[in-house]
Amino acid sequence: MTASPTDAPATPAVRFAPSPTGNLHIGGARTALFNFLYARANGGTFRLRIEDTDRERSTDEFLASILDAMRWLGLDWDGELVYQSRREERHREVVEKLLETGHAYRCYCTPEELVEMREKAMAEKRTSLYDGRWRDHPGPYPGRPASIRFRTPREGTTVIEDHIQGRIEVANADIDDWIVARSDGTPTYNLAVVVDDHDMAMTDVIRGDDHINNTFKQVLVYEALGFDVPKFGHVPLILGPDKTRMSKRHGATSVMQYRDEGYLPEALSNYLVRLGWSHGDQEIFRLEEMIEHFSLKSVGKSAAVFNPEKLDWLNAHWMRSKPVSEVSELLLPHLAKRGYEATTGAWLDRAVETLLERAETLEQMADASKIYFQSDVSYDEKADRKFLKPDIVPLFEDLVGELDAIEDFRAPAIEAAYKKVMTTHDTGLKWLAQPTRIALTGGTVSPGVYDLVEVVGKETTLERLRTMIEHVRGKAEASAAE
Ligand code: GLU
Repeated sequence: MTASPTDAPATPAVRFAPSPTGNLHIGGARTALFNFLYARANGGTFRLRIEDTDRERSTDEFLASILDAMRWLGLDWDGELVYQSRREERHREVVEKLLETGHAYRCYCTPEELVEMREKAMAEKRTSLYDGRWRDHPGPYPGRPASIRFRTPREGTTVIEDHIQGRIEVANADIDDWIVARSDGTPTYNLAVVVDDHDMAMTDVIRGDDHINNTFKQVLVYEALGFDVPKFGHVPLILGPDKTRMSKRHGATSVMQYRDEGYLPEALSNYLVRLGWSHGDQEIFRLEEMIEHFSLKSVGKSAAVFNPEKLDWLNAHWMRSKPVSEVSELLLPHLAKRGYEATTGAWLDRAVETLLERAETLEQMADASKIYFQSDVSYDEKADRKFLKPDIVPLFEDLVGELDAIEDFRAPAIEAAYKKVMTTHDTGLKWLAQPTRIALTGGTVSPGVYDLVEVVGKETTLERLRTMIEHVRGKAEASAAE
């Protein structure tokens, strides 16, 4: 028997639903990534819905920055953006339907009554705060505006068969008769989300586990409306290194801040995917590989702990696996930020090559590139005392001559010049390398000395070596005169 197309498993349709009331942060980005991967791994669609119903806190700038962050991470979405705020009429229509079918009712409580009710419920340690006093009173109550509440069944349980958490359930008696529309008529979040997810034909809803309590309420709305209930996947929280919920206290939390701090999107998405998901013991994943292996079954149930060292390690890995010219290009804004003028090309590529080993982020690399951009060198005092001794003067006088004679001023020829001086003077590299570093950079830590000399360039190297020789002579004369 040949399988008919209807036998094929439905392709998933998922969405990421950010509120543009802030930047895209690490937790949101991971939720977006898991949705994206789930869709791409299963030939499904990945939509973006902008939950902008909080008019006061939503801004165009936050929206633009969320979209930038999504693009930067390579999480391209399908179709047009859906704006929740533009769907209010439809949400109101559904609220009406809930009223008509008796799944919702008007509540005429005053704010004072609600406060009183809440206090009583808390004193009695009840999770359900509303006492249901308008459930069976049709009203109206002249002079009082009505909010609309969901008539939560008093009996039974609501069950979620979760992709990640497994089966979770709650007694309906513990769910409030929550508000589906405020007294000014505006539908609330839990109502809008159900209507939108249904209208967008979402098959799966993958989001943070801080939404589990919302999900129970939402499932009841699906059922009341006779809508198919999507499958849910609640992704555990991300904790900071101190095991408390990840927040600004733990450093950068927004995706774009990571970009500005010199992280690559490859590294951040690689890092995020491993927060909660695993594939054997593999650590390094390109987006394509994540798509190839991703499954919600391999997402863990427990909270993931953010580990900045691992992100740095991955960033170093991804920087070193890119073509150098690409790293140069990415480095440019970080150089510009420091006032270092540079353009892409052979020189910058060589400079980057020499810095790659020691830098884990583009910002660290830009800091380290100071040795190539500074116009004045001032010697570290300790290094000066330890290495810039009168004995080195004859060595360096020779070296300057050798270097001056080089036509193709590159590391191999530079190395040959150093070797020649070492042989002539029967001395080790240390007495040449360290003073060279001090002369060219001020300190004793730098890339390999031949590379350093090449990148600093012939003219500047010779000038700085001569200045260093003068400095050593000057010191010797001063101490002789004492
Ligand atoms: N706007 C909600 C949030 O940012 C989305 C929740 C959902 O995915 O349903 O938390």
